[in-house]
Amino acid sequence: PPPPPPPPPPPPPPPLFFFQAHDGIRDPVVTGVQTCALPICRMRLLEERIQKDGIVRKGNVLKVDSFLNHQMDIKLFREIGKEFKRLFANEEITKILTIEASGIGIACIVAEFFDVPVVFAKKSKSKNIAGAVYTSKVESFTHNKVYDVIVSKKFLTKEDKVLLIDDFLANGNALKGLIEIIKSAGAELIGAGIVIEKGFQKGGADLRAQGVHLESLAIVDSMDDVTGKINFREQ
Ligand code: 5GP
Repeated sequence: PPPPPPPPPPPPPPPLFFFQAHDGIRDPVVTGVQTCALPICRMRLLEERIQKDGIVRKGNVLKVDSFLNHQMDIKLFREIGKEFKRLFANEEITKILTIEASGIGIACIVAEFFDVPVVFAKKSKSKNIAGAVYTSKVESFTHNKVYDVIVSKKFLTKEDKVLLIDDFLANGNALKGLIEIIKSAGAELIGAGIVIEKGFQKGGADLRAQGVHLESLAIVDSMDDVTGKINFREQ
């Protein structure tokens, strides 16, 4: 009799680490098995990272120093850039505007996806601001003081179509200051992309009420500095 057929080969092991990105591409990441079921979650990878590594401080401050604000996880930044590109895919954008310091790293990776330059507004200490800059005043949420922020007139013109990018949205002062600068330049505001919005503070509601196309990748609806628990808005 003929020899029995060889047993079928075992199925390949499931990938241990992958992230089902919204464009259908699986990207290897280091944080664990992820699938994202739109529209329940916009970026589960980001939400889980915030939950895992974010530290809730007193005074409604969320510390994300280990991957966003001090040490920077560039693989995660790339997913963030890809997601903003998807969300603003139909828009013509010529420039990304952010504010120093913590917006810069994110804005640079996002800019790769839009293939446009990044301009960052500088927090000026000079009392004597020359005429070649646009200025506005921004009250800092984390440092509790008012800055003059400036952008050189050379780098923002009325031809520009601007996407704002920042790490956090709280009361909206940083974005409002940047919007004022865009208006002074006669440029067009296309929208704003925020990595983490604290939905229990007023910035997001104010800006949406003003008709700003605002996209936040994770919206924290509540957080507790005693238990460390963070609740996200479904979107
Ligand atoms: P807003 O101007 O919207 O009140 O605050 C936004 C700015 O304050 C962001 O640029 C961000 O740097 C900072 N910020 C506001 N809230 C937080 C927070 O909870 N954690 C951190 N790390 N930064 C924050």
